[in-house]
Amino acid sequence: MRCTYCMPEEDYEWLPRKDVLHYGEFTSLVELFAEAGVQRVRLTGGEPLLRRDLFRLIKQLSSMPAIEDIALTTNALRLRDHIQDLKNAGLHRLTVSLDTLDDVKFRSLTRRDGLRRVMAGIQAAEELGMKGTKINTVAIRGFNDGELTKLLSFAKERGIEIRFIEYMDVGGATDWKSTKVVPKTEILAILEKQFGKIEAIPKVDAAPADHFRLQDGTQFGIIASTTNPFCQSCDRSRITSDGQWFRCLYALEGTDLRTPLRENRMDDVRQLIQTHWSQRADRGAEERHGLDQRSAQGDDPNHPHFGMHVRGG
Ligand code: SAM
Repeated sequence: MRCTYCMPEEDYEWLPRKDVLHYGEFTSLVELFAEAGVQRVRLTGGEPLLRRDLFRLIKQLSSMPAIEDIALTTNALRLRDHIQDLKNAGLHRLTVSLDTLDDVKFRSLTRRDGLRRVMAGIQAAEELGMKGTKINTVAIRGFNDGELTKLLSFAKERGIEIRFIEYMDVGGATDWKSTKVVPKTEILAILEKQFGKIEAIPKVDAAPADHFRLQDGTQFGIIASTTNPFCQSCDRSRITSDGQWFRCLYALEGTDLRTPLRENRMDDVRQLIQTHWSQRADRGAEERHGLDQRSAQGDDPNHPHFGMHVRGG
């Protein structure tokens, strides 16, 4: 897919295959992060289901006692064909990106056909009894702000938690304009009009979403990363497919872990993890919140580490 909010170009300079970590290398990195205290891993992208036999990586990760939670964020185009293998391998949870229930809008956003396949993927996961499935919906004014109630109903009927994400001016979001952001307050107002009074659920963890409850008990989330950044409580970091480690979605430079890993300098990798994590000062979303003029970050769509699709959302 080429979602306009994330990966707008039709063609990219793809990474040479030799630069991309193989599953054994990912597993080694996760082991080193687990030593440093990491317990939860999410495979995102890009599209993780484009990697051949992704279940093999999940199998390796799920054999690590320290890793308590393995999640996957996917566009679900290939989900129906793979969900059984993923579940058998030990995948705990799924997040599916779904921004519209309308075929024509789906095509205009993703520049691909495929809504039916996405639906089939969601259904297959449901039939297999996957628990904790979530839907991510980026709320974009003039695109799907008229559909938010429908999307919440869709999720509610399936017992899935939906999370509305404020449109972010990350690298790759070349079509971003501040006027297209639907702020959390407005999302709540739209939903309240349809569903009645909404109750805020007190935050108990470092998860990015604020949680809410409809009167019938249905829960949903809003990730207000643009109007109310949560840098202070963010405990996430990301490794790109070529082994760069980013502590912030907005960071321009990452830390190269692939070189010491491939040279078998594991203590150096340990040291880099310790040092950079303890000294991290990233406040990307807060810094951008303070800017007068905002537009999508960065200016080179072919930079190998540019863009949300490289960092993962
Ligand atoms: N291919 C996978 C997918 O489609 O879910 C994973 C990659 S995608 C970058 C991960 C998440 O980031 C998606 O749920 C997407 O909605 C979110 N995302 C991408 N661009 C965004 C933007 N500009 N603002 C807010 N969320 C964004």
